[in-house]
Amino acid sequence: MPTEKIIIITGANKGIGYATVKRIALTYGKPLVQDETHEDRLLIYLTARNPEKGTKALNKLLGDADLERSGVLSQDQGTVEIAFHQLDITSPSSIAQFTAFLREKHPGGIDVLINNAGVYPLGSGIKPLNLALSTNYHGTLNLTKALLPLLYLRPSGTARIVNVASTFGKFSRFPPNISKRLFAAITIDEITALMDEARRARVDRKTCKMGWNQSAYAISKAGVIAMSRALAGDPDVKSKGMLVNACCPGWTRTDMTFWMGRRSAEEACGTVVLLALGDVEGRTGLFWKDCRVCEL
Ligand code: NDP
Repeated sequence: MPTEKIIIITGANKGIGYATVKRIALTYGKPLVQDETHEDRLLIYLTARNPEKGTKALNKLLGDADLERSGVLSQDQGTVEIAFHQLDITSPSSIAQFTAFLREKHPGGIDVLINNAGVYPLGSGIKPLNLALSTNYHGTLNLTKALLPLLYLRPSGTARIVNVASTFGKFSRFPPNISKRLFAAITIDEITALMDEARRARVDRKTCKMGWNQSAYAISKAGVIAMSRALAGDPDVKSKGMLVNACCPGWTRTDMTFWMGRRSAEEACGTVVLLALGDVEGRTGLFWKDCRVCEL
């Protein structure tokens, strides 16, 4: 019997998310040879907060010359389907609607969640920190919590979560009083409390005194890395053999970096794709860059 792997990716209308969808289809999809109907199939949900941008991205992929040549999307012969669904990770109602849709359409659960959506707010006030935390940290966490029950439904050892973070969030980049606590935080509640503390420090203008003087982006991505470790160590997640990893795609030419960076989105998505579907020898709770585990 063919199995269907269901993959969800956030913020996939452009940049690294878009490139990840294409790379997964090209790497793990196959054109069926005659009479071979038993191949495993992939269903990738390209999600985006803006339906117009999401649909445009989907249509661009469906007309992509590389994908067309590969035959993986061919309606009767390919093994990959890409579908669009609206999802704003900062909106509880959007998360609830998407979760309800998945529950109804895929009662057997989903296999992979790639938390790629992110923002890089500029500036040093409270506004940029609020935006970074609500999207990068709380948005990622809230979606993950909503979809965990669907990931639990898959057979033990199959489900995965990939959190796209950044080397800016490495714990060693923070002063010792903060980095020690980031390393020591082993529950989601502890990490959320640290994120709240960073926020309060900024409101009270005690950012430097308390050691939270990094950029809003760095704080929120440290939270994402810490949350990945905590989730990987959660007894329920462990008992299901679920792999949860965080990664940095590297400095990449996308809208986020104003098109500066050392690599293209196509090059940058390699680690994300490896962690989503490749052989990582069961490793979990780690931070990766360039397809290798990195010290924090
Ligand atoms: P882009 O700005 O090109 O893409 C970001 C994506 O996230 C867009 O699709 C954007 O949607 C989406 N997004 C933002 N907020 C939300 C939200 N509330 N709900 C749903 N989607 C949202 O950035 P990149 O492709 O460069 O970044 C992808 C990931 O990689 C991010 O997590 C980023 O932090 C990380 N990263 C990037 C690096 C780089 O050098 N580029 C380096 C290290 C990490 P919209 O188009 O509507 O704005």
